Formats: sequence, structure tokens, C-alpha cells
Amino acid sequence: MSLTPEQIAEKNARHAARMVRKKAVIDASIARATEDRGLLIVITGNGKGKSTSAFGTMARALGYGMKVGVCQFIKSRTDTGEEAFFGKNPNVEWHVLGDGFTWETQNREQDIATAERGWAVATRMLNDPGYQLVVLDELTYLLKYDYLDSDMVLDTLANRPDMQHVIVTGRGAPDALNELADTVSIIADEKHAYRAGVKAQRGIDL
Ligand code: ATP
Ligand code: MG
Repeated sequence: MSLTPEQIAEKNARHAARMVRKKAVIDASIARATEDRGLLIVITGNGKGKSTSAFGTMARALGYGMKVGVCQFIKSRTDTGEEAFFGKNPNVEWHVLGDGFTWETQNREQDIATAERGWAVATRMLNDPGYQLVVLDELTYLLKYDYLDSDMVLDTLANRPDMQHVIVTGRGAPDALNELADTVSIIADEKHAYRAGVKAQRGIDL
């Protein structure tokens, strides 16, 4: 049923009044946020979109000419779309530091050695204010499986340069990491094409 002109006018007036109240609340909260510093962001959960989110933020940072370091733990493939695209950017330093998931390598000693070598690269970036954003893709697994000492990792993250942003991705982010983080997003797995039998699609999944 369509509304009368009076009803439409009343609806518009109610909406306008609600927006005035909303603006006041938002303006006040913006005014309260005055701090400027590097953020630790954790993107975790079982849904698709963790690395995608990190790379999206990376595009923003690069848009401002910021220098970005990427450490990809676990993964060993170097033929992804993201690496082909971002790797060409002179402001990007891209390292693939994994040798596959633990059920592929089946060798804990080897996984620990790989993790330590990868972490050394990350540590160099986390000690250098020249990197304005550092992406630590799939770092959570190194903590979850105890390949790295979690206190050591948290300490390095906590003591990084003041203005440096860090994004950590991966499932099962440990509580201590989430506590240290400024922003934590948990991506839920509502549905994924893979379960309907669709294999990983170029340009979407890799
Ligand atoms: P993406 O890189 O697509 O943002 P992600 O970082 O959230 O994914 P990863 O665990 O790194 O998740 O998985 C990488 C690959 O696994 C991608 O091909 C992605 O589509 C796929 N994937 C992610 N989540 C799921 C899921 N819930 N079920 C099946 N496949 C998944
Ligand atoms: Mg990922």
C-alpha cells in the first residue's frame, strides 16, 4: 500500500531527526579518538577473507606511498596473484617463508627450523621504522603449534616502532595475541564454494 504525502513527510521528518541524533553521537566519538599510532590488527576465524583483508589494507597503504613488508609463513607457493601484483611495487618487500602446512611436511623439527628462519626476516622488519606496514600472513599457526615461543613473538610485536602497523592473519589466533592487538576481526565461515565442489579459482582464491 502506498503512503499518503503526509505520511511520507512524517517519515522523512522522523528520519531527519534520527540522523541529527546519530551525527551527534558519531561526532562525539570521533572527537574522542585523538591518538595517532601504529596498530596491531588480527584477522582470524575460519571464514575466507583473512589474507584478502590484509592485502586490501596493503593497497591502501601503498596508495599513500608507504613501505610495506610481507612475510608469508606456512605457504610455499610463489605463483599467487597477490605476489604477481604487489611484488612489482617498489615499495613492497615480499617474502614467502613457508614450506607447506604441517600435515604436508610431517616433520616438526623441520617446521620449527623453517618458522625460525621466517621469524628472523619478520624480526628485521619489526625492528625497522622504515616499514610502515608489516603483514604477517598465517603467523597464528606458528604460535598455535608452538613452532615459535609465543612470549618472544608478542614481545617483538609490542616493542616494534611506534608508528608501524602490523597485520597478523590466520585461524585460531591465541588469546594473548588478541589481547595485545588493537583491532581483532573474526571472519565466520558461513558458506564456502569449496564445500560445493568448486576448486580454488584463479584471481579469487590464489
Ligand atoms: P583468502 O586468502 O581467500 O582471504 P583466508 O586467508 O581467509 O583466504 P586461508 O586459510 O589462508 O584463508 O586459505 C586460503 C585458501 O583457502 C583460499 O583459497 C581460500 O579461498 C580457501 N579458504 C579459506 N577459507 C576457507 C573455508 N572456510 N573453506 C574452504 N576453503 C577456504
Ligand atoms: Mg590466508
